[in-house]
Amino acid sequence: MSRKKAKIAIVGAGVAGSSLALYLGQLGLEVTLFEKSPSIVNGPPFCHLHAGGNLYREISDTQCIKLLKQSIDFLRYYPFSVDYRPTAIVLPTTDTGTPKQLLPRLALLKSEYEILIGNDEKNKVLGESENYYKLYSRESIEELKKRAIVRRPKNDDEWMIPVAHTIDLEKVQFPLIMVQEYGLNLFRLASGASLALKTFKNVDIRTETKVIHIEKQKATKQWHITYSHDNQTQKEHFDYLVNAAGFRTGKIDDFLEVPCKRMVEFKAAYISQWASHKSTLFPEIIFHGERGTPRGMGQFTPYPNGYFQLHGMTKDITLYADGLVKSDAVSCQPKLDKNFMKKIEQSWSKKEINSRTDAAIRHLSQFIPTFSQATVGSKPLFGAQQIPGDDPTLRVAEVSFPTLGYARCEIVKVSSVMDMIDTIVKQFIELGYLDASIQGKRALTHLENLSEIELVKYAKVLCKSREYPEDLANRNVSS
Ligand SMILES: Cc1cc2nc3c(=O)[nH]c(=O)nc-3n(C[C@H](O)[C@H](O)[C@H](O)COP(=O)(O)OP(=O)(O)OC[C@H]3O[C@@H](n4cnc5c(N)ncnc54)[C@H](O)[C@@H]3O)c2cc1C
Repeated sequence: MSRKKAKIAIVGAGVAGSSLALYLGQLGLEVTLFEKSPSIVNGPPFCHLHAGGNLYREISDTQCIKLLKQSIDFLRYYPFSVDYRPTAIVLPTTDTGTPKQLLPRLALLKSEYEILIGNDEKNKVLGESENYYKLYSRESIEELKKRAIVRRPKNDDEWMIPVAHTIDLEKVQFPLIMVQEYGLNLFRLASGASLALKTFKNVDIRTETKVIHIEKQKATKQWHITYSHDNQTQKEHFDYLVNAAGFRTGKIDDFLEVPCKRMVEFKAAYISQWASHKSTLFPEIIFHGERGTPRGMGQFTPYPNGYFQLHGMTKDITLYADGLVKSDAVSCQPKLDKNFMKKIEQSWSKKEINSRTDAAIRHLSQFIPTFSQATVGSKPLFGAQQIPGDDPTLRVAEVSFPTLGYARCEIVKVSSVMDMIDTIVKQFIELGYLDASIQGKRALTHLENLSEIELVKYAKVLCKSREYPEDLANRNVSS
């Protein structure tokens, strides 16, 4: 059967829109990617591959299993964006939960991982299933504390040594847990996706181009997209519209007058520098706590050369008192307060950067006392993210099709992009844009051929142009 020719418009080149453009580009479709920023994958940050959802005690087993599967798919598609180091999960003595309560879920995830490997050996990207997690008693941590820090850790024990050296053992519950949830590097992903997309003649990347209106032409059923670039307004027709506009998804919904219900949340993570640990390779460390309270979860994410990204799920660190807003009967677009929009569209005040980063350093220093010597590393990584529906704890979402010829992408975690792509591909097969034989196949060639040197070079250019330290373009790995 011959394929129907179709012009596809994707609005928004975040991780969702860029990944879809890459995928459809490889399949030979004619794609136009509209992005108002100067470079792609420039939305809210991501640093953690949620391969099992172990940072979220409040979500269901079903969501955790889906996060595990989706993270494996994501890692297989974007291996160059992953920091291959594990995550230490620590419960403070002040926490209302116990490590024992986490064990049934960890056992479940381990057996789910085993099943995924059984389905396809290539899914074994988080190491052996029996090593998915490991428990550390107080005695074993005391033993590791006696060992010297290993320059290039090769196994969980070696990764755990710096944790044993630096955390206050009196303030945490045992066992500590090491789990194979890896890191994600935003700048490497942005660089790799940009370099790969540039090789496609059939993908037209229009950066610094803002979509300002969309309407459907009744006779042709085509979408008329009005956009502005270089102070000029132009109009173009497309057969299919993909809304991947991130937290601004509601604005496109409003043009189309489709039904909607969503939330938007502004959050920030802080960049610190710890001069005395420039060459120590740490795992990521999670100190669990109740979200939104002064004891909210602390997240300590290592980058090379002593940089650490910090989250504190309290209202004076990562979360904000009015940071979560909802759509209403008048508009599909939840309205963030102007202070948040100023941060997103212009800049932060130096005062707020310093006070929130200092608060994050203090939060993590409760458990890592010598970390109190850390200083502000750069401006924060921040942004607003979309959450479809009305459940703020939702962590897995992909795409919906509110009207004909229209896909609305609303991922919450970046790992959902492969399922999102599969669902859109299924619809394109039904519409005759793609051959049925393509379903479930993931062509990887353009990403596999990327040169590491070029990738790092462009990732550093992106860091610089976005005013972050160039060290954030490198992996914090031991190889
Ligand atoms: C502080 C913080 C930490 C996070 N940490 C993690 C993490 O560790 N792991 C994880 O998986 N997820 C994390 N997330 C969530 C993750 O950042 C988002 O899920 C993801 O970035 C969403 O990608 P997206 O492509 O859907 O949207 P975006 O990245 O927001 O992309 C949308 C794009 O559309 C463009 N756009 C919008 N409107 C228009 C228009 N009219 N015309 C042209 N272009 C337009 C925007 O400029 C933007 O580039 C975090 C989020 C925050 C806020």
